[in-house]
Amino acid sequence: MKWKQQIYGMKAYQPGKPIEEVKREFGLSEVVKLASNENPYGFSPKVRAFLSDDHSNHALYPDGYAQELRTAVAAHLDVKETQVIFGNGSDDLIAIITRALLYPGVNTVMATPSFSQYRHNAQIEGAETREIPMRNGKHDLVAMLEAIDGNTSVVWVCNPNNPTGTIVSDDELQDFLNKVPSEVLVVLDEAYFEYVNSSDHKDTLPYIDKYPNVIILRTFSKAYGLASFRVGYGIAQEEVIAKLDAVRAPFNNTILSQKVAILALADQTFIEECKEKNDAGKKQYIEFCKKHNLDYYPTETNFILFQVKADSDVVFKEMMKRGFIIRSGNALGTPGYIRVTIGTEEQNDKFLSLLEEVLTEQGVFA
Ligand SMILES: *Cc1c(COP(=O)(O)O)cnc(C)c1O
Repeated sequence: MKWKQQIYGMKAYQPGKPIEEVKREFGLSEVVKLASNENPYGFSPKVRAFLSDDHSNHALYPDGYAQELRTAVAAHLDVKETQVIFGNGSDDLIAIITRALLYPGVNTVMATPSFSQYRHNAQIEGAETREIPMRNGKHDLVAMLEAIDGNTSVVWVCNPNNPTGTIVSDDELQDFLNKVPSEVLVVLDEAYFEYVNSSDHKDTLPYIDKYPNVIILRTFSKAYGLASFRVGYGIAQEEVIAKLDAVRAPFNNTILSQKVAILALADQTFIEECKEKNDAGKKQYIEFCKKHNLDYYPTETNFILFQVKADSDVVFKEMMKRGFIIRSGNALGTPGYIRVTIGTEEQNDKFLSLLEEVLTEQGVFA
């Protein structure tokens, strides 16, 4: 068959191992997944109540324009309804942006390590990827700006960044946006927006009015705890949204996902509670790192990337045997580190005491 040349050698996204598979493989009755930054507290009880008594007609196609959800999100953000686009997760929006703007001969600029889907989608379209190493644990926006040339179509700023959890300061971001040519789309991927504490991270929504070439991506998959429903959204000026909407698949959110997202958005108390618990959980990991002299990235998210001073793959495997699925830094471009989703207090305690055991075994504390 006549595959695109660039498809050769590409592989499907490698997600964390499913819980059931790990249970079977290691004969465990309980396995905790701290690998994909889902919300350990699940989702709003209002969503649970709705789901147990839902009578939607799933034989019909959903509203492709997600009108009710659109009204709710636009009101929540105080933007126009025409400034929002919905995706089957923000993964879908990354693919839509890529499909609309990238092709052989143009290039796209991103940080490394960062979210792997920017590169993956760009490769499918045959565009050149320019990956700029992070500096002092953050996006090097100065070097990223230098990498932009007349053939650059899209720049990706993952803020906070996955897998490091770090943010770029608002001053740096503004300076960057002022200098990026206005025909280059800047994607601000804010999948962890709801978890940010730093006063260095201002609300980026006002940038939408100021810069016609900025799109913000947010999602219901992380803090809202609705990863399985696949709802993400983008916010930009109307002209950008209209172009991207033409590329979107006609029915890319289900009836159910649109309904639960509306309910989840309305329950901001749940989000605030989760954030508070996450802040406390983060402290457990930071204390552990300090106690054992392990470097860590200052995180503004619900995960933390920290040093293990051992082979990350070995630590990953040993923790899996003990019932915890995490991400090895080897898979994320950060060997010697692991990325762990902040769990409940109890999960974190158990995880850290088992990790202490594993690292002792590995001779890290000798
Ligand atoms: C998880 C994640 C996404 C994808 O989220 P979905 O909305 O579930 O597709 C996008 N960007 C980053 C940085 C993420 O960590």
